[in-house]
Amino acid sequence: VCAISPKAIVSDACASYSTLDNLNQELRPALLDITRNTDFFAYYRLNLFGKECPFWNDENGMCGNIACAVNTLDNEEDIPTIWRAEELGKLEGPKAGHPGKKLQEQRGPKKPLQGMLGEDVGESCVVEYDDECDERDYCVPDDEGSSGKGDYVSLVDNPERFTGYAGEGTKQVWDAIYRENCFSKASFPKSASLGTSPFPNKGPAANELQSVLREGSRQQLLEEQQRHSPNMPFVSETGLENEDECLEKRVFYRVVSGMHTSISTHLCWEHLNQTTGEWGPNLQCYKDRLHKFPERVSNLYFNYALVLRAVTKLGPSLKDYTFCSGDPAQDSITKAKVQALTSHAGEAPPIFDESLMFVNGEGPSLKEDFKTRFRNVSRIMDCVGCDKCRLWGKLQTAGYGAALKVLFEFDNNSEDVPVLKRTELVALFNTLARISSSLEAINEFRAMVEVEETEA
Ligand code: FAD
Repeated sequence: VCAISPKAIVSDACASYSTLDNLNQELRPALLDITRNTDFFAYYRLNLFGKECPFWNDENGMCGNIACAVNTLDNEEDIPTIWRAEELGKLEGPKAGHPGKKLQEQRGPKKPLQGMLGEDVGESCVVEYDDECDERDYCVPDDEGSSGKGDYVSLVDNPERFTGYAGEGTKQVWDAIYRENCFSKASFPKSASLGTSPFPNKGPAANELQSVLREGSRQQLLEEQQRHSPNMPFVSETGLENEDECLEKRVFYRVVSGMHTSISTHLCWEHLNQTTGEWGPNLQCYKDRLHKFPERVSNLYFNYALVLRAVTKLGPSLKDYTFCSGDPAQDSITKAKVQALTSHAGEAPPIFDESLMFVNGEGPSLKEDFKTRFRNVSRIMDCVGCDKCRLWGKLQTAGYGAALKVLFEFDNNSEDVPVLKRTELVALFNTLARISSSLEAINEFRAMVEVEETEA
């Protein structure tokens, strides 16, 4: 089954999916090992409760919190509490608050979490000293607009999966996210239009990737964009203006849409039948949300290429990174795992050439606009009305933000190597792991559809 639009320019576009699928197969075991089995990457610090949604509130009739989320069942009263959306959305496992600056100074770096995450957790691998954000960030710091710096939560104990969060609340959040895609027309000169691609034109494999990721299904992309924002500046009624849509804006849209695809894939793959209490893949969910929309799947593959490129680019600078400030044994294990992954990824053919973006005359201002919009997307995550969804929504926007920062704020030829904060690194690697799992789940779903069609 090929999920590429028939309008794709190159006919063998399926091979491009398989190129990325094969790469994913090779890298996936190491990526899972890093994100599940190292303390450094298994805990994430975020401010889940201390920040208000900056975009709307209950008073003006707009609502993003759990109380406004209509659950997928008509009447949740009839089912056991543990299967209800409110319960499914709650966080699990131990939590530990981030020590304030004063406490950090008093205690020193070694034992800041006071054993709250459990005896087996190497706390020096988890805690992070207070850090400042800089203008190169694509995400807002998580203490912005709030008093605290957040809590540490276990990502392993809180897998991203079906929670029952749905309805008006989610619609409002997704609409707000896609509205950020409305760049001002003046920012995008024609010279930056579809002609350029961020994918290097080197060899057949790269050509295949270009076909998926650049031309894959342009018409569908535009149709999907139009559905979200019919009044968007670049889409004229005749559709002709679509050709003027610039690369940067398309990349922005694809990142957001690909993230949406990944979230949908996870909730369909680890779905709860709220009537029987059974967890498992929900094929109909996949068919309704993704199978009918190859463009959405194409955007997921796009994101895989983009984030993997960022991880690969970052690899060499992580050779000198201290993963745990007080535990040399854990540090060297984590470092060795990360190095193995990034060098393996570095051996693959080039899949994304970021140097083609933001290079035209208006480059710098375009980049600022892009960055501001992406920061807004990360702020919108405070409007997500389900804790677990907010956790993964925040983590993934931070992960894409970190990837964009690595790709677009540091060139390949200077001494200015990317330095990421712990939170950014954890977000980046876990975001890649999320996309990786989504690719695998989509392949499984495709196979299930194939079997169903053969049997029909
Ligand atoms: P939605 O997924 O809400 O989509 C809304 C509209 O967006 C669609 O009608 C379609 O027009 C368009 N659209 C859909 N997919 C794409 C795409 N890939 N690209 C472009 N356009 C698209 N639910 C869970 O069960 N578990 C979670 O972990 C979870 N995390 C979430 C995280 C965030 C940040 C948000 C906002 C929501 C999350 N949800 C989660 C809810 C989930 O994403 C859906 O909103 C919910 O299941 C309702 O789905 P829906 O069918 O109404 O369509």
